[in-house]
Amino acid sequence: MQFEDAKITIRNNNAMWREIETINSQYNNYNFDDIKAEPIKYEKRTSKAKYGRSSCGGALVWPGSFDFKAFLSGKIYEEMIVYTELINKYIDIFIIFNEYKKKVLKVFETRRLYKDISTAPSDNRNWFAKNLSTTTENRFKELKKYEEELLNARTFSPQFPYVILHLMATVLYDNYDRDDKYEFNDILECYQMALEKEGKMTFIQQQRAIISDDKRYDIMKRDGFKCCICGAKATDGVRLEVDHIMPVSKGGKSTDANLQTLCERCNKGKRDKY
Ligand SMILES: [Zn+2]
Repeated sequence: MQFEDAKITIRNNNAMWREIETINSQYNNYNFDDIKAEPIKYEKRTSKAKYGRSSCGGALVWPGSFDFKAFLSGKIYEEMIVYTELINKYIDIFIIFNEYKKKVLKVFETRRLYKDISTAPSDNRNWFAKNLSTTTENRFKELKKYEEELLNARTFSPQFPYVILHLMATVLYDNYDRDDKYEFNDILECYQMALEKEGKMTFIQQQRAIISDDKRYDIMKRDGFKCCICGAKATDGVRLEVDHIMPVSKGGKSTDANLQTLCERCNKGKRDKY
């Protein structure tokens, strides 16, 4: 078959092939081909989708109103331990693979040998004249196609973990139902977002922690040892707590002006509202 002949010809004469082989030999120890990580799957029903119909053929158009990154970073935040483990397992090899990919892409970009059919080694030229399309332009195209197939097949293509998001939406009379694939670098970006969110939570906990027992006592004393909402007193048998008027999660600080005494019940009621 033509392709088999082309492969041999290209292998024998192609500088790109040799370069890829050289790069591969530097990375052979990494066994990229062994990486076949399972996809992580999520399903999401949303009413946020907006639809339009394209002018040609009436196909559905997805305008991208769904914020995938916010969604995935939320999922990661919920499953922080699982994702941390997953990322630690793959991150080193992912970085090495990206380095490899860059080198390989550079070889593809600097496609020197066949910029022009006349620069191909004469063996190849004769082979093309005999076996491929008659016009120079078509021969060049076919060669590029063979070359690409061959080199792509020889290039490592590990399958890092990825996320499949099954998005469903019903808006008006149209159903949107599609699988979207998000790569490992998307996972990394969303993981970073989740980490930042976690950092914020640590800040909240720190802010809470800096209400010392002395401060707590001072605030309760200031408020007359009674709930600022319902007036219940510690002597009535209720448990009093010191509360942030503007919640810490909304940027409130642990200053006297932002602190008040509440009974356990009022405090819980307030938390539920937020
Ligand atoms: Zn109360």
